[in-house]
Amino acid sequence: MRPAALTSPRERGALRQLRPLYPLLWEQRGRLALGVVLLLVITALSVSAPLVVRAMLHEVNQPWSQLITWLFWVASGVLLYAGAMWGAPLVLRQMGDAVVVKLKEQVFAHLLRLSPAFYDQQQSGELLSRLSEDAFTLYRGLSTDVPTSAVGALTMVLGGVLAFWLNPTLTAWLLLGALLTFIFMGWLGRTLRRLTRQQQQMVAEQSAFAQERLATMKTVQAYAQEARVASTYAQLHQKFLAQRWRYNCTFGAMIAAAALLQYGAYVLVLGVGLWQMQQGQLLLPDLIAYFVYVAIIGSSFQQVAHLLPFLQTAAGATERLFEILETPLTITNPTRPRSLPSAKGGRAVGFKGVEFAYPSRPERLVTQGLNLTVPANARVALVGPSGAGKTTVFQLLMRAYDPQRGQITLDGVPVKQLRLDDLRAQFALVSQDPVIFATSVLENIRFGRTNATQAQVETAAKAAFAHDFISKLPKGYQTLVGERGVMLSGGERQRVAIARAILCDPKVLLLDEATSSLDSHAEAMVQKALDRLMVGRTTLVIAHRLSTVQDADLIVVLDGGRVVAQGTHKQLLKSCALYRVLAARQLRD
Ligand code: ADP
Ligand code: MG
Repeated sequence: MRPAALTSPRERGALRQLRPLYPLLWEQRGRLALGVVLLLVITALSVSAPLVVRAMLHEVNQPWSQLITWLFWVASGVLLYAGAMWGAPLVLRQMGDAVVVKLKEQVFAHLLRLSPAFYDQQQSGELLSRLSEDAFTLYRGLSTDVPTSAVGALTMVLGGVLAFWLNPTLTAWLLLGALLTFIFMGWLGRTLRRLTRQQQQMVAEQSAFAQERLATMKTVQAYAQEARVASTYAQLHQKFLAQRWRYNCTFGAMIAAAALLQYGAYVLVLGVGLWQMQQGQLLLPDLIAYFVYVAIIGSSFQQVAHLLPFLQTAAGATERLFEILETPLTITNPTRPRSLPSAKGGRAVGFKGVEFAYPSRPERLVTQGLNLTVPANARVALVGPSGAGKTTVFQLLMRAYDPQRGQITLDGVPVKQLRLDDLRAQFALVSQDPVIFATSVLENIRFGRTNATQAQVETAAKAAFAHDFISKLPKGYQTLVGERGVMLSGGERQRVAIARAILCDPKVLLLDEATSSLDSHAEAMVQKALDRLMVGRTTLVIAHRLSTVQDADLIVVLDGGRVVAQGTHKQLLKSCALYRVLAARQLRD
């Protein structure tokens, strides 16, 4: 399954595909240039070797002292070659590391800025696979595969020129053979590229599946679904193996074509060369030199053919990384941001004619012509059946999503005209399913205000009635709470989240069924904490129990994304049938 939020795969030329890499490569131009120089030294030395051999064979009758001098130069060349072979991978790997690390940073930073709409349609394991596997593939490509292939290709060209100079007729024949093979390999290459891209996607799907199931392991085990999950994982691999088989067949054909060309060339050279020698057109040293050229070209050709799929994998990996970078940010800062008026207490919130559908379900309006006016410092409750759009109201207010129509304001300023940082700093959200990070309680509480002191954190925790249970944890505030806070109970997680909100001291407090996972004793305590927290700021409460909002300044009844009624508890009991139903259901509880 391809994620709809990422750009669809395009058939681009390999060079165009790599274009986004150029700025990163430019930053590494020093290492890159040094690497290229070393590769050129390697190529030049290996290509000139047969000429040296030929020259020495021609000089076989010279005095030994002369030959010794020659050998000395040859040995120096060998040392230089070894030095270049040591240095080239070194600088190229450093370059590859630097480029890939930078790219990963960019991709990660971009991921952090992509809106929830992107993540609604994206599996984190799939993204993770791009950041890890694809990034590594790209590294290998940059540091090893591309340089090696470049040396191979250059060796082939230079060797070909020298071979042509040594023996034009024979070389012309070999070129014809090479041309035909290239055409065939080009055709195979396109197939390989498609298969490669599919394979990478499959690997990403496997990771996504494994990651998601590992993260939900308790549920898998609770429902005794281990065997089924294992078999789904195995099926994903079966699909992969079938695909792999096609890939291997194509790859094998490519290698076979290269081998056929290489060894066919040897036969041709031997045949034609021996014939030319018999005709007196060719001397043995020339035939030997020529043969060595063909051997060098042939082995370079083999090398390039072997690397071609890796190059394509690297191109595919690059593309997959850049797809993330090229995913446009939908929620962005305004070009000319406005600032909010300074306010002592809370801020006024307004919704006017807001119409919104989630991007993943554009045909279904979740809010329709929503109007809502919340005065500064007021305490407003949103009630309504599940799915009415209450949580969506919060999402829109914080610009997790932008509505298709209408306007949302904060103290009269449209939220779209505020910097995102400024806007979001106005709120603290406590939701029914609080997010707890796999770190210490302390860090969890000060997540929104990282510079808070231990004392400030403790004050917030006390206000949230969390201090007592935190103190009883093995390491108090330093206790690590496990992934998603698994070591805490629902109510404890909730109180940590409330302490986090208290510490942020927001202008607008958003409570989304914040006490729903607490037992009635804890709820009463937390409710007290929340009551204290609500003073001097605007509060929007989504309540799962009407009892907690009966004394709100205003109760807004939502249904189907519309405000169907608003007023105080008493007024609504008289005027709103839906509210009476909700209230009656609660009273029965
Ligand atoms: P409430 O909080 O009142 O129970 P929500 O605001 O969470 O309701 O949801 C309103 C509607 O929007 C529901 O029908 C829900 O299925 C849908 N919805 C909520 N979140 C998303 C999302 N991320 N993508 C698509 N649809 C969503
Ligand atoms: Mg909700």
